[in-house]
Amino acid sequence: MNKKVLLVHPEISRTKYNFAGVIDNEPLELEYIFALLKKEGFDPFIWDGQVEKEPFINKLHEIEPFAVYICGRTRQENFMKEYCLAAKDMNCITIVGGLHVQLNYRRFFCSYIDYVVTSFDIFNIVNILNDIEPENSICIQKNGKWTVKEAVPFDINRLPLADRSYYYEHTDRYRYLELLPCAHIRTSYSCPYKCSFCCRSKMNCGKYSARDIDNVVDEIAEINCDNIYIIDDDFLFDRKRIERFINLIRLRGIKKKFVCYGRADFIAANADLMQELKDIGVYYILTGLEAADGKRLKNYNKKTGMKTNAEAVRILNEVGINIMGMFIVDLDFTAKDFRSIYKWIKRHKVRHTAISIFTPEMSSELYEQYRGRLITDDPSHWDYLHVVAKPEKMSVRNYYMYYHILVVKLFLKGKREGIYDFLDYGYYIKSMLKNLFKFGG
Ligand code: SF4
Repeated sequence: MNKKVLLVHPEISRTKYNFAGVIDNEPLELEYIFALLKKEGFDPFIWDGQVEKEPFINKLHEIEPFAVYICGRTRQENFMKEYCLAAKDMNCITIVGGLHVQLNYRRFFCSYIDYVVTSFDIFNIVNILNDIEPENSICIQKNGKWTVKEAVPFDINRLPLADRSYYYEHTDRYRYLELLPCAHIRTSYSCPYKCSFCCRSKMNCGKYSARDIDNVVDEIAEINCDNIYIIDDDFLFDRKRIERFINLIRLRGIKKKFVCYGRADFIAANADLMQELKDIGVYYILTGLEAADGKRLKNYNKKTGMKTNAEAVRILNEVGINIMGMFIVDLDFTAKDFRSIYKWIKRHKVRHTAISIFTPEMSSELYEQYRGRLITDDPSHWDYLHVVAKPEKMSVRNYYMYYHILVVKLFLKGKREGIYDFLDYGYYIKSMLKNLFKFGG
């Protein structure tokens, strides 16, 4: 009996307009499913388009699975569908899941897709493969008719330990900037905050679910990698949990570098913890600073202010943790607003930055608000690098020009400060200039 299941994470894009070679993420979601399927007597395989040289279609024909499971973000929707179509041509059971699918399941009601998984409950995938109909968190297609079963929150503590065999085979690829290789770990689902531009708080049916921190540290101790990226939407949330994390890492004598997300208000209110985090190896904290003015932070329902942001940057700079400041360039930006972001970053000595173009998430109220202004409906443009809705105060072309000028200025600033020494500067400068001329300017 064929028990082969192909677990797929499609490539991010087929252009060079992405972060391949700079940030490549371990396919952790697939590794959880892989572990569970193996335990249940299936024969799983992983194909991650970020690192595979062999095209998906070749892998599909080589393995001849009886089922495929495909996950991805909004920007990968087209590839997910393309791969399901190819798998259906071979009479495979086709299942899709992941962050984008969970919040936008109706976009996947296609004739060549059989199941749409709408929660983090990976036990539902096993049920499907065992021909048992899941009771909830699933959409099922039978003869062209879809049945939607309500999604319910999943307790993250039920997850098995990820099987990282695939990761260990590709340690030359999975990285976070200069941290190569870099393994992922997840300790919670969803986010307790509700910033207006972000859909993370809607994940897991809006229920924040955190793992027992002792188990998390046990898992970290077992991972054969010196760099650990904690991919929670907001790891620095519960002070007591973080204190326990610090103590356990010390007690176990774990010596690794850590990357995690943390809000500016937590950093500013817990300055004493930041030194301790530095001491146990926290290397990057990714922080949504978002804007260079308080009015925007208020509009985004960020529940922080510019003073808090400045304080968070100051504290992390002082203790020597790299803050990765994440900013949004909004669609109502003027040329002055683009310059203000750069000035704020320079004034506050934020060395690492990531700039996203404001993108109304498909699952959000904002999407409805911006519907009339959308200039594309191609999901591959929902990558925060493309303008998807018409800017308010300038043409799309000029908007791209100012955006790319900002990106180039920040890149050159980073180059002067030596933070991107692991990159091939020539290649990046060339591609940035190319983007400047391709999109605008
Ligand atoms: S931006 Fe960060 S803090 Fe705000 S909802 Fe999203 S994940 Fe949570």
